[in-house]
Amino acid sequence: MTSSLFSHKDFDDHEQVVFCHDKDTGLKAIIGVHNTVLGPALGGTRMWSYASETEALTDVLRLSRGMTYKSAITGLNLGGGKAVIIGDAKTQKTPELMLKFAEFVHRLGGTYITAEDVGMETSDMDLVRTVTPYVTGISEEMGGAGNPSPITAYGVFMGMKAAAQYTYGSALLEDRTVLVQGIGHVGESLVEHLSNEGAKVLISDINQERLEQVSQKYHATIFNGDCYSAQVDIYAPCALGATVNDETINQFNAKIIAGAANNQLADEQKHGQLLKKRGIVYAPDFVINAGGIINVYAELEHYGRADIMRKTENIFDTTLEILQMSDREGITPHQAAFDVAQERIDARKVGQ
Ligand code: NAD
Repeated sequence: MTSSLFSHKDFDDHEQVVFCHDKDTGLKAIIGVHNTVLGPALGGTRMWSYASETEALTDVLRLSRGMTYKSAITGLNLGGGKAVIIGDAKTQKTPELMLKFAEFVHRLGGTYITAEDVGMETSDMDLVRTVTPYVTGISEEMGGAGNPSPITAYGVFMGMKAAAQYTYGSALLEDRTVLVQGIGHVGESLVEHLSNEGAKVLISDINQERLEQVSQKYHATIFNGDCYSAQVDIYAPCALGATVNDETINQFNAKIIAGAANNQLADEQKHGQLLKKRGIVYAPDFVINAGGIINVYAELEHYGRADIMRKTENIFDTTLEILQMSDREGITPHQAAFDVAQERIDARKVGQ
């Protein structure tokens, strides 16, 4: 696997990739540090039962690169990094394994700062904090900003409203039909915002129990059909990435795609262009799901709740500007967002 690392299609000039292994705890993790020009590489740790180690490597490379551009476009002085732990979070995540993982994070001396992602809880970050200061997303009791997911959801809601403003001339989501795929930490909170605004919310998840709970709580309709061909106004992917791919791209009936999942486009160029060609407005994932990183960044910069909310609300303006820029320049929204972020990184490089 490592023999092809530098030529891996998703390597994209990573500064550092660290393979972490511990026989006693069974830890197998990969930390990707994509770029540290703007600051330390901050990004969550994901624990997932990957089908193969190659799949885990691809995931961490794509995710850490995404963090570089997410922080850059959000105006944060952070670089991009991410970690993956190979295994089932429900059955294989032990305190010993998390503590060992924390040791590996600590060894990087602050080049990489971790946080929560899929398969992680705030309590896991609290545990990591007992070993290293290079962790964010810790509980309020331990001096952190708490669970970032509600802030992420609020940012996604802002980005979705901007996409509606651009598409329909009104940001109001009342009576729009929105399908939320994945009603976990972020998805549920997004459902709440949408219900409060009077949207018709459909929900889909592989966890039946959660579907029933969330459906009852917010009067959302459980959707059992195919998410991609659903007759909805907005498709909000809030589970895992790459749901816009060769198989699904021609099925979408939604006018807007705006969700929390990272790396929604299996191929950024190809699928970005195909969406644009089909007249489907895509709110770039790394622009609209930045609420979480804004929230954890507050822990490093010691700014408070009001600043977190203001910066997250700003996602509305950024998304609208990106969509308008994509029109003006005849490029995809993803490319427009990427260009703005890259410009900020390049400017800092010159100034270094
Ligand atoms: P989560 O694990 O709490 O929720 C994911 C949900 O998706 C679960 O309920 C799971 O059952 C469901 N799911 C998994 N596969 C599915 C499928 N095929 N179809 C339908 N549902 C499926 O994760 P989360 O923290 O809510 O994050 C959701 C997404 O948003 C992830 O891609 C994550 O990387 C991204 N994200 C999260 C944050 C954050 O603050 N938590 C920030 C930025 C991006």
